[in-house]
Amino acid sequence: MKIAKLYTFNDIRIEDIPVPKIGPGDALIKTKASGICSGDVMPWYIEKKAPLVLGHEPAGEIVELGSSLIRHPSSFSVGDRVFAHHHAPCLACKYCRRSDHVQCETWKNTKIVPGGISEYILIPEINLNNDTLKLPDNVSFEDGTLVEPTACVLKGLKRITPPFLPLYKGRSKEGLLSNSTVLVIGLGVMGQLNILLARRFGAERIIGADMIQYRLMKAKEFGANDVIDVSKESLVDSLRRLTDGDMADLVIVGPNSVEAMLKGISAVGAGGTILLFTPAKPGEKLTIDPNHLYFNDINIVTSYSCGPSDTAEALKLIEEGVIRAEKLVTHRFPIEKTAEAFRLVAEAKESLKVVIRF
Ligand SMILES: [Zn+2]
Ligand SMILES: [Zn+2]
Repeated sequence: MKIAKLYTFNDIRIEDIPVPKIGPGDALIKTKASGICSGDVMPWYIEKKAPLVLGHEPAGEIVELGSSLIRHPSSFSVGDRVFAHHHAPCLACKYCRRSDHVQCETWKNTKIVPGGISEYILIPEINLNNDTLKLPDNVSFEDGTLVEPTACVLKGLKRITPPFLPLYKGRSKEGLLSNSTVLVIGLGVMGQLNILLARRFGAERIIGADMIQYRLMKAKEFGANDVIDVSKESLVDSLRRLTDGDMADLVIVGPNSVEAMLKGISAVGAGGTILLFTPAKPGEKLTIDPNHLYFNDINIVTSYSCGPSDTAEALKLIEEGVIRAEKLVTHRFPIEKTAEAFRLVAEAKESLKVVIRF
């Protein structure tokens, strides 16, 4: 079977390896579509894992089930169309019990084999049991590739604290952002997903910021009331003008740069929250002004990846049509052209979601 393997950022090769042999509790899927993640084009992040088979946003069809699953019919059958999360938590440790699945040791150590951009993928027993979801009939394989990215956005919004609902758990998300002005910095696919969900969760006003015309235009199409072209205008000055000095109640920072984070902090209004949806390079420092943060009651919240409660909710939002591949997938490539697809995502211009089709 063919796989796309990254050796260095500029060296992605298509190789042929044997189809993995599954164990008694595992499943094998024939991959139908696999998304390229914006996180995968951060060279320092992806190269520290190299060589690796790219991709962690796959959707496919189950073609084989392990012997124990056949003997004891599980909830999965051959022929099921599924999304499989690349990490799966134990559901028993202290992190799992409080829904911090991404901090679970098991979550960190699990993976799909050999990776997402592969003609066949082995879904280990734990991933199959704890974070693999059947796709409803009206959800396509391409929609399935959006489950993980949508779940990451959903988790970020769930982590925000006052002035929004102080306790998200068990309460309706519909009004989570009501009466609030949300600023989304960086309008790649994750920024656009943040806009779509902020709209869905009742934000009163959404403002998008980017330097690419195409992305600014898409943000307006997806529900932003205003956009700021940071190649032409100052983010902070324009936001001040647009909000009559109030600034934003929630600022979501997508670009993985300290500069964007600092701009984001200056864009938060009193009592507001900045959500860092991105890391910086290891060792990079973000210098903050605690005096300003303290006297303005500004919250700094981070959010990394997502767990099974998020993927299940994300799939519901996709099923409802809030998120759809036809809105967000702008480019499709065969596996042979993975390097080209990867370059397009890294370039971050006239593209949103880029998907490898099988
Ligand atoms: Zn991803
Ligand atoms: Zn755990």
